[in-house]
Amino acid sequence: MSAQSNPADAASAGTLAFDRAQGPSGRAPAAGVTVGPYAGAAATEPVACYACGSQRATHFMEAQDDLTGKPGRFRFVRCDDCALVYQNPRIAADRIADWYDDEYIAHRKKSDFGLLTPLYRWAMDRHDRRKAALVRRYVALDASSRVLDLGCGAGTFLARIKATTGAHATGVDFKDLSGLPWMDAIDFRCGRPQEQAFDRPFDVITLWHFLEHDYEPQATLAQARGWLAPRGRMVIEVPRLDSVSFRVFGNRWPGLQAPQHTVLYSRDTLLAMVERAGLEVIEWLPWGAFPAYFYLFAGVAFKLLRGRGLDLGRAVGPYFVGEALAAPLLLFEKQLNLAMQTVVVARRGGQ
Ligand SMILES: [Zn+2]
Repeated sequence: MSAQSNPADAASAGTLAFDRAQGPSGRAPAAGVTVGPYAGAAATEPVACYACGSQRATHFMEAQDDLTGKPGRFRFVRCDDCALVYQNPRIAADRIADWYDDEYIAHRKKSDFGLLTPLYRWAMDRHDRRKAALVRRYVALDASSRVLDLGCGAGTFLARIKATTGAHATGVDFKDLSGLPWMDAIDFRCGRPQEQAFDRPFDVITLWHFLEHDYEPQATLAQARGWLAPRGRMVIEVPRLDSVSFRVFGNRWPGLQAPQHTVLYSRDTLLAMVERAGLEVIEWLPWGAFPAYFYLFAGVAFKLLRGRGLDLGRAVGPYFVGEALAAPLLLFEKQLNLAMQTVVVARRGGQ
């Protein structure tokens, strides 16, 4: 698919890329929808459904880069055959790294927010503690355990696992942040999952908000399945499309995170994808380690800012004030289907 695209011609006419993406059905966008150009001046490419390979899809939603305010409009479609929602056209595979600069939130080295710095650090550390607690529900880790985190970003979760359990910690990310001081304790591999090879299986493989960014999610799951020990567990967290926050915020839903989020998973499409990869569902949860509150805060902010981008330095104060006010609601985060979902899987039949 990407091999056929011509970045130069796609850049000059995102509409062309979209039209081609419609495939043999020749389906026109829904009435009232403005057609492109999409993604501003960025090179785009059409893509078939990540789950079933179908090229028949219907317009779902148009989004902006609400997080950073970079220009461009991005289209999500819904597969006519399996209902997966994905970005189409997408940023060309050889250009997507441009959208993960040093300000990208999961890769941020910045942690100086003045008087609020201790609160910010506490919140980031809390996120890693929540990840570790979620893993501990399914697997007891010790120094003999092996943990792999796909899309490890700045690696703080693995550093925590290593420090608290002694487990061997391996991280994969296409962005090389191995220069961060705590990364010394981690076996870091730079690149995509498909480019990796491991000679021993893992007891735990985690994908924290990775699969919605992945250009090959079905292949990644199949690959990870092959690396999982017979009694190992894989923990996969992604935003939940069929959640309350999506219904409230619509095209300003933080889970759209265009253009970095290439696939938007409902409960059903996520479960279908893991099962197609030969994985067995141990448990599915309507929450995750990532705070649903972030989506509530960012959703309100994105509505107000209307695509101008969120200045994290200015938002950090209101963020914590809002979290304190929302505390009674957040007590029920695990029951309210606010924004996230997590699926815990094993190799089917333990094989
Ligand atoms: Zn499909």
